[in-house]
Amino acid sequence: MDIRLTNDLHGTDACVRVERGSLELSRRQVRRVKRKLCGSTRCACSGPLGLRGLQRYDAETVFEFVPRQDGSGYLQMVRRLSGWSD
Ligand SMILES: [Zn+2]
Repeated sequence: MDIRLTNDLHGTDACVRVERGSLELSRRQVRRVKRKLCGSTRCACSGPLGLRGLQRYDAETVFEFVPRQDGSGYLQMVRRLSGWSD
């Protein structure tokens, strides 16, 4: 499935294709997304994947990137609690 990743400082977005079960991102995907979301190595807006702002999967689910030491990582879904407002 394709997931849209965003950086709300630069106004950029990128799509990655991940396996539905694992949500794994290869090191190559991480590098590509980072370059697209925030191309500057000196910019401190974001982490290793270049995400900034709330990453929405659907109306009730947000996700975050969990990096691994080898440069790869995975997306972790977090169900939104009722009462969040943004
Ligand atoms: Zn940046």
